[in-house]
Amino acid sequence: MSDTPVLAVEDLGVTYGKVTALHDVDVEVDAGETVGVIGPNGAGKSTFVDTVSGFLEYEGSIRVNGVEVAETSTQDLIRDGLFYCTERRDLFDYMSVEQNLRLGSYLNEDGEDERLREVFDLFPRLEERRDQEAGTLSGGEAQMLSLGRGLMSDPEFLILDEPSIGLAPVILEDISEALHQITELDVTVMICEQNITFALEHADRLYLLENGTVRQTGTPEGLQSTEFVESFMGG
Ligand code: ATP
Repeated sequence: MSDTPVLAVEDLGVTYGKVTALHDVDVEVDAGETVGVIGPNGAGKSTFVDTVSGFLEYEGSIRVNGVEVAETSTQDLIRDGLFYCTERRDLFDYMSVEQNLRLGSYLNEDGEDERLREVFDLFPRLEERRDQEAGTLSGGEAQMLSLGRGLMSDPEFLILDEPSIGLAPVILEDISEALHQITELDVTVMICEQNITFALEHADRLYLLENGTVRQTGTPEGLQSTEFVESFMGG
């Protein structure tokens, strides 16, 4: 396995006009790791995901498998199998579950049917609903579809933006179970989450963002006992 980190973020800064959303952010994700980026509302998690995905201008450096994000396109990053950023809002409501899934592999059609099988094995609920319009799915099913569509691109690096948001506990268990299976595959995962419990359960290491910068970093065991995480979980 190469020594180049899958994601190397150095001295990252992002501003919206006069608002500084991120500053002095350093994050590294190595191949095969599952890394959590956590923090309260407004900490900068969405900005971080959007910037790493190539949607925002930035200062500093973001390299995905050694390639500077500002010097390539989001489409090329996806085409190279580097990552797919799931986003529930991007589902096509009037298309079926299966059509949405197949769209996930439009830049990488090799092995599409096999991957569809794997996604259906991971989420049997989606197979039961394969002909249903995506817009009629429940919130939890839409989240499964979004995750499944991400997997259809056969990513090496999967970025999940708030996978647990707004989900009922029973659906959260399904997503959690699927994520355990995904992290056992040869996929590098970054989970950006406000739900600390969820992130602690899945991540090998975590970065705690607060007010746009990394406040702490460590393993779930190391971070669990810190005052900040305790207050956050209690709050
Ligand atoms: P949440 O969990 O509530 O979604 P977050 O951690 O994802 O929060 P961001 O959405 O990245 O945080 O926001 C970080 C900061 O940047 C906040 O202070 C926010 O108000 C600001 N911000 C985000 N988007 C914009 C924008 N388009 N214009 C101006 N300020 C913005």
